[in-house]
Amino acid sequence: MNYRLQFRPYALPFRAPVRTAHGLWKIREGLLVRLEDAAGGVGYGEVAPVPAFGPETVAEDAAMLRTLGESPDAARLSTVPVTLGCLRNGLRAASRTQQPTKQAAKPGDGEGGRPSYLAVAALLPAGKTALAEIGPKGDAGFRIFKWKVGVDDAADEMGLLDDLCAALPGGAKLRLDANGAWDRRRAEQWLDRCAERPVEFVEQPILPSVRGAEDLLLGLAADYPTPIALDESLVGENEIHRWLEAGWPGVFVVKPSLLGDVPGTMARLADARASVVFSSALETAVGAQSALWTAFGWPGESRALGFGVWPLFADARFDGPVAGPFVQWEDVKRINPEAAWTALD
Ligand code: MG
Repeated sequence: MNYRLQFRPYALPFRAPVRTAHGLWKIREGLLVRLEDAAGGVGYGEVAPVPAFGPETVAEDAAMLRTLGESPDAARLSTVPVTLGCLRNGLRAASRTQQPTKQAAKPGDGEGGRPSYLAVAALLPAGKTALAEIGPKGDAGFRIFKWKVGVDDAADEMGLLDDLCAALPGGAKLRLDANGAWDRRRAEQWLDRCAERPVEFVEQPILPSVRGAEDLLLGLAADYPTPIALDESLVGENEIHRWLEAGWPGVFVVKPSLLGDVPGTMARLADARASVVFSSALETAVGAQSALWTAFGWPGESRALGFGVWPLFADARFDGPVAGPFVQWEDVKRINPEAAWTALD
């Protein structure tokens, strides 16, 4: 059976530039793909590599799509190399073969054993302005607050940590994201600080490109009680497999949009009883729907989602549901990929 394959590139300005380790990111580039089967069934997928994360580029993905032609069959679609994981991800979603893993393993109110909602982490701005946002966000119902560190002077940030902890609602926790900004000594100082404070975990204290990063991260995870999460270290499924084999005891920040084989990778994480946080790759609502689908199918412990990103784009037609303290399964189902596709016409 042959599909009709179409794709449309997009270049969407963010409402506000996103600060990354490589500078400001202003425009999100990617592709939407549409597959129509012989029976007229239509599926949509998104191809959204993150420039700061990995080598895959939108230009390579588009070139590969042109190679596949306008009417590939499933065997032809499966020839996309594993190095183009985001493209494999988008094509899988569009061919509507993506299934949530082990969906029946978890009791819940949603259909198919899914929970009916999942908690979302509140995003705090870097620096001192974070302090004023905890109160209103706590009142709105958020209980996990993500704060970017390694941005301002370390002594100032460490001083602020206590103010932020004091401002948290009862039972709430901070999630610190260093985006790889620290060296070993700085990471140790912070982890010392965090030990007796309500810190859920510290994300990516050291960049993966630092010499000996893997041993350094494993050492920090072994020496301090606060869990450490890997984010930039996990570009795609190969890195996830590698860290599983290394026995990583901390948290895996998983951006499902970056995985070429979502079901296979989720099954391996589940078998290892890994601690997982699902996170946005700052994709449009099309990719976010598949990514959230994966999060709702996860059989393990549900940590607050890193999906508190909307409204994200200057053009709201590409946004997912506006971030509250929870994402409802009903809202995920309601996302209409066709609307985003049409908006690119
Ligand atoms: Mg991160």
